[in-house]
Amino acid sequence: MIKHERGDKLYASAKEYLVAGGSASARWNFALKRPLYFEEGQGSRLKDVDGNELIDMCCSHGGSIFGHRHPAIVTAIQKALDMGILCSYETEYQSELARKICEMVPAAELCRYTCSGTEATMHALRVARDFTGKDVILKFEGHFHGYHDYVQYSWAPSLEEAGPYGSPNVVPFAGGMPDGLKEYVMILPFNNLELLERAVKRNRDKLAAVILEPINYNIGCVVPDVEYMKALRRITKENEVLLIFDEILSAFRTGPGCAQEYFNVTPDLCTIGKCVAGGTPLSVIAGKREIMEHMAPIGKSTHSGTYTGHLIPVMAANAAVDEIRKPDFYRHIYTLADKLYTGLNQIFSRSKLNVKIQGLGARFGFYFDVKKEVVREYRDCAENNTEMNLKFYELMFERNVYYHDYGGKPCHHGFSIQHTEKDIEEVLDRSEDAVKSLEKLYG
Ligand code: PLP
Repeated sequence: MIKHERGDKLYASAKEYLVAGGSASARWNFALKRPLYFEEGQGSRLKDVDGNELIDMCCSHGGSIFGHRHPAIVTAIQKALDMGILCSYETEYQSELARKICEMVPAAELCRYTCSGTEATMHALRVARDFTGKDVILKFEGHFHGYHDYVQYSWAPSLEEAGPYGSPNVVPFAGGMPDGLKEYVMILPFNNLELLERAVKRNRDKLAAVILEPINYNIGCVVPDVEYMKALRRITKENEVLLIFDEILSAFRTGPGCAQEYFNVTPDLCTIGKCVAGGTPLSVIAGKREIMEHMAPIGKSTHSGTYTGHLIPVMAANAAVDEIRKPDFYRHIYTLADKLYTGLNQIFSRSKLNVKIQGLGARFGFYFDVKKEVVREYRDCAENNTEMNLKFYELMFERNVYYHDYGGKPCHHGFSIQHTEKDIEEVLDRSEDAVKSLEKLYG
């Protein structure tokens, strides 16, 4: 039985001083009508302030592929602390990390760091504009690239807002964005080669870059066709438009070379985040030397920050990438992925409910009551049944499994390297039970 009294009390006092009682909009939990407040994380488990022990299937929105309190990450952070909390200064460890990333990630010839994915995509776009001398970017419906004003468009528009499939509207998803910025963004449906080729050819004189999530985890898990990715590379190259893979979420999810290695398609620039630093705040902008050297002080595209490349996340990331390179790392990830996704799909297909799971590597999404057999782009899942979706997460929470609910929109969930096969079996057992209750409501 889940307890919630201390959490409720904490929320009552937290909201006096923190907007909606939390430090980030996305931390709101729709089922509880407040944020969850935690006390401790250990391996695959979280303990909240009421002492409830939860299997963590959110994993810090993708930030914790190492789970909680991974010994290698803890030791690395301790070393950074012992060096005196050096901040805004270079040490040997920033370049050591960059060297490892360049060895692992195909597009990476030079790197720079940021504290967040939002900053990483902002700087990647700036350097792309500086390099090409062009201003407009093309992004895809359902793809998310952070919270700055150049990219906060058309992540989850309603179908009415979204406009015609072939020429979607540019739909802002935050108040306060200057209207004029829309001029710098084009939106297309993902996974449609004909529309892509036409748009890039027609707009080649103003398009600086095409930016995308190579695996579109921000609407669950949409894996594009390899032919589409190869054609995307060809078309952008032929039209002198840069190709940017936003791998903030997909980096190291499927293998040490990220999604670009998975598809064998090398972009001009990429952003890497979340997994890279073992749950600490670090993202990476990486790419071709001739483009990256447009950054100051070699070029004019400024990129800096007091906390950029902070030693604590850099040390954590050095340890993280060493772990990722160990031979068994992805064997374990794929064993769990297979067990979990097959198991969940079997549970739902035995039920009277229309629910599907799509997953690749360590992250996946649920689709509730969507008509398409396979979700290939945003509009295939825009009519996801929000109510049923939220209810399922609530039922799982009551069974001590934590899925972040994202307001009932299709989004991403995942597990860590510290999850065990036994954890996955427990998740499946509890899902089986939750689905029985869900069936009574929606079957
Ligand atoms: N890009 C992608 C693909 C993301 O998934 C996210 C965050 O979820 C971001 C950018 C923004 O990263 P951050 O939350 O670190 O600013």
